[in-house]
Amino acid sequence: MNKKDYYEVLGVSKDADEKEIKSAFRRLAKKYHPDVSKEPNAAEKFKEAQEAYAVLSDPEKRKQYDQFGHAAFDQMNGGRGFDFSDFDFSDIFSDLFGDSFGGAFSRFTGFGGGRGSSKSRASRGSDRIMRVDLNFEDAVYGCKKTINLDVYEECSECNGKGGRGEKTCKTCHGTGTVTSEQNTLFGTFMTRTTCPNCKGAGTTFDSTCSKCKGTGKVRENKDLEVKIPAGVDTGTRLRLQGKGDSGLNGGDNGDLYLEFRVKEHQLFERDGSDIYLELPITITDAVLGCKKEIPTLYGNVKLTIDAGASTGDKHRLKGKGVEDVRTGTKGNMYVIINVVIPEKLDRTQKKLFEELRETNLKTSEFKKIEDYLEKNSK
Ligand SMILES: [Zn+2]
Ligand SMILES: [Zn+2]
Repeated sequence: MNKKDYYEVLGVSKDADEKEIKSAFRRLAKKYHPDVSKEPNAAEKFKEAQEAYAVLSDPEKRKQYDQFGHAAFDQMNGGRGFDFSDFDFSDIFSDLFGDSFGGAFSRFTGFGGGRGSSKSRASRGSDRIMRVDLNFEDAVYGCKKTINLDVYEECSECNGKGGRGEKTCKTCHGTGTVTSEQNTLFGTFMTRTTCPNCKGAGTTFDSTCSKCKGTGKVRENKDLEVKIPAGVDTGTRLRLQGKGDSGLNGGDNGDLYLEFRVKEHQLFERDGSDIYLELPITITDAVLGCKKEIPTLYGNVKLTIDAGASTGDKHRLKGKGVEDVRTGTKGNMYVIINVVIPEKLDRTQKKLFEELRETNLKTSEFKKIEDYLEKNSK
């Protein structure tokens, strides 16, 4: 499935600020809210807008999206893409449609009772993704690295509850909703709406936690010691279970994914677990054969090149490649011969080559074209 660009969905530019993103979302929500919209595909459009807004309104998630696109959320949530079901839209909807719609919205999408209930319910922390640059050797041999990242942790001040002195809401008696009668021209309607006092939580606090401003989570900068296994490559993702954002109210922590980008080596070229080395040799070494000391990932070795070598000849050094990060088996190393023809010769060399020219170096391969020329000149 090809997903639409989140910025396109909201109709904002890539450098739109928080305010622009919010107002763009409000505009779309007003237009496509399934309870009010007469537009075709309103529900689908509305869902798209919600997802885009949930990502772009969160600075961390937006950064990930800018860097990785939809791929940032691909491996999370079982490959179903970004999961915004825990996202709190109630603020926007209540000031957009009034509390009654906030409630109606919650019921419509089955998100549960909006912001409040997500506080007392255990919720899993978000997954996070980080790009990690490695030099060639660290990727090949594995290494230890200190990763610095910002994650959301459960607020220690209020234990993730968002406030102190929790008690059952007097207005809704803990149900999170209130039923009200509305008398209109068309008769009396009963509407069930989100409780305005506790915003659906069913409980209220004597005081809102000042450290987390009632959200139950705080951003913290952490250093993480990570052991990176041998054999990772550009694009490899490493999952660190439980190292993402903290869960709330006993919910599991999210996972942290590291995505690697490996720098090139000055000599070796890597293709999966195989290693390639281009080896220049002189024309005389090619003709006469030689022994060459060459570097490998596991120390220098002597390579025997038989007489009559050509450019492109491939020598395989079994097991001298990179360890496969999953299976642990080592790939091969391939040495590719490059016979370098000298462009400049000193007097002695030139003389030697001229003497050499006088000898017969022609093999049967030369005969074909000579025969052809001879035949057609008659
Ligand atoms: Zn209440
Ligand atoms: Zn707090």
